[in-house]
Amino acid sequence: MILNGKTKVVGVIGWPVEHSLSPPMHNAALEWLGLNWVYVPFAVAPERVGEAVQGLRGLNLVGLNVTIPHKAAVLPYLDEVSPEGWLLGAVNTLTNRDGFLTGENTDVEGFLRSVQETGWDLAGRRVVVIGAGGSARAVCLAAVRAGAASLTILNRTLERAEEVAALLAPALGPTPVQALSLRDPEAPEAVRSAEVIVDCTPVGMYPHHQVPPVIPAEWMRPGQLVCDLTYNPRRTVLLQAAQKAGAETLEGVGMLVHQGALALERWTGRPAPVEVMRHALLAALSERRRNGGGTAAEQRLNGA
Ligand code: NAP
Repeated sequence: MILNGKTKVVGVIGWPVEHSLSPPMHNAALEWLGLNWVYVPFAVAPERVGEAVQGLRGLNLVGLNVTIPHKAAVLPYLDEVSPEGWLLGAVNTLTNRDGFLTGENTDVEGFLRSVQETGWDLAGRRVVVIGAGGSARAVCLAAVRAGAASLTILNRTLERAEEVAALLAPALGPTPVQALSLRDPEAPEAVRSAEVIVDCTPVGMYPHHQVPPVIPAEWMRPGQLVCDLTYNPRRTVLLQAAQKAGAETLEGVGMLVHQGALALERWTGRPAPVEVMRHALLAALSERRRNGGGTAAEQRLNGA
């Protein structure tokens, strides 16, 4: 990569940001596309978010990804926010078109694309989402948008599941939504009778990768698709249990690749080289594993 006076800049803001896998994934794609662009991680302290977003205009950056903890904090500084971004109260992709800043949430479509790769379609399926945090909200919206037959939000804290159900109300259409506690006596049957289960909790994430899965193997069965958004490790305890129970499985890497690919497509206007991005991401994950599984910052984020 040779940087010169014509190099265009994209990147990611987060705090911390050193754990981000987006730089290797995006730089591999930019190189493959033959673009004189570079993707840079920017560590932005929470009190500097407004200045960082203004900096997009000042420095004429093409766009930025936004990661924890800034996904909601950037909203007041944007000229336009996509309907998904408004509904979720969070965006992960900013685009600068001649100083006009747009915010979008590509997690919703990114999740759907990763499911499509398995040959599954959420339309007409009974879906259970476990968790009620940022990623669960995006996946719930994806299920509703795709026309799921029903959606059950299962969470450790019932009130948070109820909040997500209420948040989705404007987008609901015909999909009935139910909020349940993970400890509810109805929870095992809700999971068993579902066709698609998505774990949006960090349970099983490195370095706590040997804990029991968020739901036991007995709750799963053949004929189901079990997805885990956690991608480090790729084969989480939940996916191992699901496989033993005879269910199909989907790793979190796919969503990570597709949300990034969608951002790149917004910025470049060209189809993203998805397989190049996946390859670079998996290589970066393997490298991380060889180095002990994660950076100090990632271990802090993972509750280590
Ligand atoms: P978050 O906003 O912090 O939400 C975490 C959720 O998990 C909460 O609902 C929490 O329940 C629940 N939870 C936490 N620990 C639990 C436990 N021990 N038992 C049961 N439930 C528990 O997190 P997030 O940002 O949504 O991320 C969740 C996971 O998804 C992480 O592993 C993250 O890396 C991954 N992720 C992957 C992608 C991707 O592209 N593949 C994208 C985003 C996130 P309470 O409400 O009761 O606290």
